[in-house]
Amino acid sequence: MDVEQFIERTNFSMLEGKIDRRILQALNYMGLQKPTVIQAQALPHLLQGKDFIGAAKTGSGKTLAFLIPVVDRLIKLGFAKKHGTGCIILSPTRELALQTCAVLKKLLIDTDLTHALIVGGEKKLKDIKSLSGGINIVVSTPGRLLDHLQSTKEFNCKNLKCLVVDEADKLLEAGFEQHVTGIIKLLPTTRQTVLFSATIDHKVKNLARLALRSDPVIVSVTDD
Ligand code: ADP
Ligand code: MG
Repeated sequence: MDVEQFIERTNFSMLEGKIDRRILQALNYMGLQKPTVIQAQALPHLLQGKDFIGAAKTGSGKTLAFLIPVVDRLIKLGFAKKHGTGCIILSPTRELALQTCAVLKKLLIDTDLTHALIVGGEKKLKDIKSLSGGINIVVSTPGRLLDHLQSTKEFNCKNLKCLVVDEADKLLEAGFEQHVTGIIKLLPTTRQTVLFSATIDHKVKNLARLALRSDPVIVSVTDD
């Protein structure tokens, strides 16, 4: 799809026939008609499966910018419980993970894809139970995710197609660099990796170098 064309027309209905209609329906239920700037700029690249770095300020709509393509991809691949986890979304805090999960739930309303919030502070046994049932999209915080990758045999992510590192600047500020490095080492390498951040400094760039393929698309949205 032509990026400029999409930005110009700026309407989700332009994606009819390109993304699953159940996603468009969910956006409709949510009362959203037009993508935000970062959504319009990110969606065409992400829908093509490219590795991506997106920078835009807080409140610019980054969550749906990565959730829409993730859900579309897993629907198109026919993901079901037996395939395990197709996407992991990494958030710096349980509050942010919870917010992402709430948007994801709305987006999945007409689909059969499964999702779960896997964060510190919850009972691990509860996580393991839900992971063993097959969770297609996992929204998680670094400590708890690494813990499960290292020790939960029920956590099947060998079919992982996409890793999203959300709020990368906050994640690094919170001192999760080692965790993320550990996580990346344990994930299948044939995946799309997407990184979103409010700001991009050298630490975020270093993380991108580690996690993403060598030729990511970089989009930075500024106010002016
Ligand atoms: P960010 O992650 O960039 O801080 P969020 O994804 O949390 O931003 O979105 C911020 C707010 O914008 C949310 O309340 C969300 O519902 C709203 N929003 C997201 N996309 C759209 C859209 N296309 N049209 C209108 N509002 C939107
Ligand atoms: Mg966000």
